[in-house]
Amino acid sequence: MSVNLQTPIDYLKGVGPNRADLLRKELGIHTYQDLINLFPNRYIDRTQYYKVNTLQRNNADVQVIGKITAFKEVAQKRGKRLVATFQDDTGNMELVWFRGQKWIRDSLKLNTTYVIFGKTNWFNGKFSMPHPETELLEDHEKNMRSAMQPVYPSTEKLSNRGISNRVVGKIMQQLFIETNGKFNETLPDNLRTELKLISKKEALFNVHFPKHQELLFKAQFRLKFEELFYIQLQLIIKNLIHKSKIKGFPFDKVGTYFNSFFKEHLPFQLTHAQKRVLKEIRADLGSNAQMNRLLQGDVGSGKTIVAFMSMLMALDNGFQACLMAPTEILSVQHYNGLQELCKKLNISIKILTGSTKTSIRKEIHKALENGELQILIGTHALLEDKVKFKNLGLAIIDEQHRFGVAQRSKLWHKNTSPPHVLVMTATPIPRTLAMSVYGDLDISVIDELPPGRKSIKTVHRYDKNRLNVFKFIRDEITKGRQIYIVYPLIQENEKMDYKDLMDGYESISRDFPMPKYQISIVHGKMKPADKDFEMQRFIKGETQIMVATTVIEVGVNVPNASVMIVESAERFGLSQLHQLRGRVGRGAEQSYCILMTGHKLSANSKTRLETMVRTNDGFEIAEADLRLRGPGDIMGTQQSGVLNLKIADIIRDSDILQLARHHAKNTLKLDPSLTNDQNKVVLDTYKALSKYKNIWNYIS
Ligand code: ADP
Ligand code: MG
Repeated sequence: MSVNLQTPIDYLKGVGPNRADLLRKELGIHTYQDLINLFPNRYIDRTQYYKVNTLQRNNADVQVIGKITAFKEVAQKRGKRLVATFQDDTGNMELVWFRGQKWIRDSLKLNTTYVIFGKTNWFNGKFSMPHPETELLEDHEKNMRSAMQPVYPSTEKLSNRGISNRVVGKIMQQLFIETNGKFNETLPDNLRTELKLISKKEALFNVHFPKHQELLFKAQFRLKFEELFYIQLQLIIKNLIHKSKIKGFPFDKVGTYFNSFFKEHLPFQLTHAQKRVLKEIRADLGSNAQMNRLLQGDVGSGKTIVAFMSMLMALDNGFQACLMAPTEILSVQHYNGLQELCKKLNISIKILTGSTKTSIRKEIHKALENGELQILIGTHALLEDKVKFKNLGLAIIDEQHRFGVAQRSKLWHKNTSPPHVLVMTATPIPRTLAMSVYGDLDISVIDELPPGRKSIKTVHRYDKNRLNVFKFIRDEITKGRQIYIVYPLIQENEKMDYKDLMDGYESISRDFPMPKYQISIVHGKMKPADKDFEMQRFIKGETQIMVATTVIEVGVNVPNASVMIVESAERFGLSQLHQLRGRVGRGAEQSYCILMTGHKLSANSKTRLETMVRTNDGFEIAEADLRLRGPGDIMGTQQSGVLNLKIADIIRDSDILQLARHHAKNTLKLDPSLTNDQNKVVLDTYKALSKYKNIWNYIS
């Protein structure tokens, strides 16, 4: 009989109540199972011995065999340090001690072979190793130890309370003794054979007590695959259940609105990508299932028209549609653009935002409930309980990253049965991440820009080049172009940012004096009406320069604006910079993005700026962002639960993720209810996972 892995950790010999308490609080380890799944962060490889002349300047832990040939004391600012010359047959290096010098000097023998171990430094043209571990070669050979030493995750509290890495290793050993190392297999044989995966038992043993690199690699691969396989399986099952349970409104006809718009009023030819995506949406809307689709498309790729034509499909089937955007400016812009198209088709459309007057608001509520109003555009205001539709058939959310999952589901409940939902985002999410986080959404991608766009030229300039930049602006304005100048406004030090913005505005007003130049200014503290007034002046071309904060980050569309200047660009995140840059390059003219910064830049800021200068590709930028910030940060805590992986890493293991997703899909395709004999272990593991950690709660 094997030990039950759900046994509380207190029962493990050598743990006891105090340690159990610490393990629970510091590492979330409650049961034997949790402890087994505490995987090492890294390993110290003591299977390798280095020669002095092969040491690399990479600051890694290394192990060298040689002899100490001399000691000397070197005076330094405070006290002195002990330096030993350490020699092997290829060269020599220095061992250095800053503390315990007398004891060390007495205990180490000259001209005797030692194995030393530690991190190397490169100093004064020579390698040195501060406070190395030392062991006589003779003893080293006698001591049998696992060659690859795991380093477990730890916290300050744990190490202060004596739960060192060694202690964790011992406890782990005890766990393997008590359980006899018998762990049930959790992947089916056919998969293991096909992918040459080692058994669960072997994998767990070797991830904690690896004999050598190759076995460790196999163990990690198997465990990462398993982790990702079950996450994908859960997401896919959830999606399938969703599709079978939640009936959507079938939009079975393509009617007059859509057809007459397509034939008579389409202002341009759709790109291939737009057509493909419309077909995907059409297929969803025509099926019996409720659509839950994410539409990704880089800034300027033309998502709006796709959204509009999807709304027409709803209208053609007698349903209402709504479009929700994250800001007032953006809602207004959508409204203005779509209103013109609606006029031609005789469709009723209204806008509802925080600043809509009560009387108008009441009218809108009424028209929505009695079905007179066909399309409603707006901000969060759409989510208020008072907003009730007669028959909402399609809800579209623009710029998804500003809205949380909770809001998505709120829109769902606007009806007795949920409307179809289309979520549009201009911040491309790397495919691997989308797969894990939005596994429950279907994904469409517009991966093509409308024809004739010139790619935006991006440069990085230091503040001291400002005069040249201003001259450039003047030249562009002379050519009839318009300019954005954007200042950071970040909540925490809003006061200072606000001052920066105002100072900037004043100095620009001096350099670009009236009446020759007209300048608009827009920021978050202005009243919506004033904001709108200033925006409109810029849109109509009455002002040549728009000084703004990031309120214009999303969606604003002024095709004649061809220069985007970002002040203190080092303070912006990559996706924000990419969004801002997307405000230009919308017309026929060559557009420019100038990133202004001070001279001192962190390594991280430099990478961000270099990335922006190097590429216009939103997906590439998203990948870089993911690498710089980590997935949790990007998706926000709300959605990062699913990224709490124990062993796999979404970025580094994206290949394994794709493999796991492929096999999870395939397994379900061949055996949807997981009732085949060989899939019994899949079903059991899946059930156990859902039982012990309710993954549904944190996925969506
Ligand atoms: P985004 O995907 O960033 O929301 P928009 O929908 O605002 O992009 O489209 C950007 C601009 O491109 C708009 O001016 C729009 O009219 C134009 N546009 C969209 N699709 C096409 C197309 N197929 N051909 C030409 N212009 C297009
Ligand atoms: Mg848009």
